[in-house]
Amino acid sequence: MVTPEDIAAAADRVRDTVRVTPVKPSPSLSELAGGPVWLKCEHHQKTGAFKLRGAANAVARLGKVAGVTTASTGNHGRALAHAARAVGLPAVICVSRLVPQNKLDAIADLGAEARVIGATQDEAFEEARRLEREEGFAMIPPFDHADVIAGQGTLGLEILDQIPEAGAIAIPLSGGGLLAGVALAAKHRRPDIRIIGISMARGAAMAASLAAGHPVTVEEVETLADSLGGGIGLDNRLTFALCRDLVDEVILLGEDEIAAGIRHLAIADGEMVEGAAAVGAGAILAGRLVAGQVPLVLLLSGRNIDPARHAAIVAEER
Ligand SMILES: *Cc1c(COP(=O)(O)O)cnc(C)c1O
Repeated sequence: MVTPEDIAAAADRVRDTVRVTPVKPSPSLSELAGGPVWLKCEHHQKTGAFKLRGAANAVARLGKVAGVTTASTGNHGRALAHAARAVGLPAVICVSRLVPQNKLDAIADLGAEARVIGATQDEAFEEARRLEREEGFAMIPPFDHADVIAGQGTLGLEILDQIPEAGAIAIPLSGGGLLAGVALAAKHRRPDIRIIGISMARGAAMAASLAAGHPVTVEEVETLADSLGGGIGLDNRLTFALCRDLVDEVILLGEDEIAAGIRHLAIADGEMVEGAAAVGAGAILAGRLVAGQVPLVLLLSGRNIDPARHAAIVAEER
């Protein structure tokens, strides 16, 4: 299990590795949402996404190992590479060929090996499992791991430190490590806070699993929110149950709505984010998410998008 105490301990452990990221109000989204909207700018985290929190906490808790490995849609791999290098451990990151080239380059730049294996997350995962079984590596999965969830939860503590009166947090949802950690931390301090998970309409495994009442597989398709792709594992141990118990609402967005979120955050708020991080803004623009009297916090989870692609989306050429 993961407890609020685990998250507090993780905050102490990762303090020197992760950055405290800024928050700021969004006047234009507040206007559209009918109440105060704040942006938690976690896309300014080192490595460009929140995943460094979970990776750093998990690596800090390892005993003696030959190295670390994972299968990742990109940002977790990058985070693990950074966290491993910080403590002098080799890292092998196994990825599927859906992962964009800019993310592979970023992993190599961090001194890790990016190993491209198979067409799906599950095939990449098998290679990471083999390294663990045969070569003495520790596998750190992207979400379904207690230390990873506790690390992501530090973001929930940070949000409430910065915006104590927050009434709701809108969180991009994929495997659910981010939502589970943030919700555990936030609801422990403020049981009344609303937790809203947002995914793309096509290929959202956690959303489909929550609707079915048990983990299910969905077809992986390309999406602007590429960091939200991938399965949750039919043998999911932690995040499915945590998300089921902690999420108050799930919103699904079409590709045009995600693009609109990216565009709006760039033009109106001056923030360059990737598709996964734009879903909160996209939901407000689509009229699917409103704010009450108390602040609605949009968690901007990452910025790792190909710059040319970002520019094309902002110019409405996508
Ligand atoms: C991984 C990721 C998410 C989703 O996190 P989960 O823990 O898998 O739900 C959201 N946004 C970005 C940028 C990510 O890299």
